[in-house]
Amino acid sequence: MRERLENDPAIQAIKAQVDLVAPTDAIAMDIFYDLSLQLAPKKCECVNAPKHRFDGDRHFLCGGCGDTKSFTSGTLLHRVTLFKAYLTAFLIREAGLLISALAFSRLTDVHFGTALSIQKKLSLAIVHQMDDTSPLTTARPLQEIIARRSCETPARMHPFAEEEDIERMNADSDAEMPSTNSEPSNFEAANSHESCAPSAIADVPVNRAESGKDAFETAIEIIGALLSKIPTTAEKLSLQTSISFGLVNGALTMLEMNGQAIELPGGKFISAGSAKVLPALSEEELAFTARTKSAVETVIESVKSVFHRVSRKAVQLYLAAVWSSQDRERWGNGSILYLCFNHPPIRYKDLLDYVSPPQMKIMHSV
Ligand SMILES: [Zn+2]
Repeated sequence: MRERLENDPAIQAIKAQVDLVAPTDAIAMDIFYDLSLQLAPKKCECVNAPKHRFDGDRHFLCGGCGDTKSFTSGTLLHRVTLFKAYLTAFLIREAGLLISALAFSRLTDVHFGTALSIQKKLSLAIVHQMDDTSPLTTARPLQEIIARRSCETPARMHPFAEEEDIERMNADSDAEMPSTNSEPSNFEAANSHESCAPSAIADVPVNRAESGKDAFETAIEIIGALLSKIPTTAEKLSLQTSISFGLVNGALTMLEMNGQAIELPGGKFISAGSAKVLPALSEEELAFTARTKSAVETVIESVKSVFHRVSRKAVQLYLAAVWSSQDRERWGNGSILYLCFNHPPIRYKDLLDYVSPPQMKIMHSV
C-alpha cells in the first residue's frame, strides 16, 4: 500500500521544526515579521528608524515618519491568518519537497480548500518567476497526467478535452488574423516539388466519404504528406487543409508516435525523414529538444507520484511546482520566503480564474 505522503520523514521533520519554533499562528506571524525586516522592500524611507510593533499585530509604527503600516500588505501574506500553515508550506518547498493539497491539509490540520489554495498560491507565484527562456510545451505530451475534471472541462467529456478546446479556440483566434488568409510563401516553396500541390490536398477531406476511410485516417495521410523540413504548426496545417484543428492535432500525435513527425520547440513540426537527411536542426536545437523531452518525463514522474492526476486548467501550476523541486540552486533556502515578501497578493479569485495557457512553460531540465 502506498505510504501516506504527509508521513514522508523529510516532511515530518519540517513539521516538527515548525511546531518547535512556531507553536501558534501568532508566533509564526512574529517570525514572518522578523523575516520581513530583512527580505521585504522597505515600506518607507526611514531605513534606520526604530519600528514599533506589538506581538501578534500585523501593523507596525515607524519611529521615523510616524506612519502605521501592515507588514503583510502587498505580499503573498496579505489577509493571511494561518501563518503556521504558510510557514510549513514555504519550508517544504524550499527543501525541494512536493506535497499534495490533501496530504498538506492532514499535515497542518487545515481545511482541504485552504490547503489547496495555499499550495496553488505558492505555485502561481513560482509560475510568475518562469522567464521567457523557459522551454514551451503544449499539454499534449502531458496527457497521461491530465485526468482530473475542472470547471473548464466540457460536460461529459474526458478531462483532456479541455486541451482540445483550448487548441481549437487558439486556432479560431489565429484564423481571425488577416495575415493567415494568404499561404506563407515558405510553405509553397517547400512543397512545390512535392507530388501534391496544397490546393489538391485541400480537396481531399471533402471527398473522404467516398474513399471509405474515416476522417482521422485521411487526416493522418494528408498531414503526413504535407510535413516537410520546413517547421510548421498545427494551426497552419489546419488552415491549409481545412481539416479541423482537433483532427490535425490527433494526426500529428499519431505521426509522431509512428516516427514520421518530429515536434520542435515552440510546437512546430517537421517530417522525421527530413531531420535525418537535411541538417534542418542545429546541434543546439536537437539538444534543446532532447532536454525538453527529459523535462517532460521528470514532470510526469513527479506529478504521478505526488499529485497522481491534475486538471488541464491547473497543469501550469504543477509544472512550476516540479521546477521548484528540481532546480535546487534557484529554489533553495530563503528563496520562497523572499518570494513571499516580493510578490503581490494573490486573491482566491485569481486562483479560480487561472487557466493554464496553450503554450506552457516548463523547467529547463537540470
Ligand atoms: Zn518611516
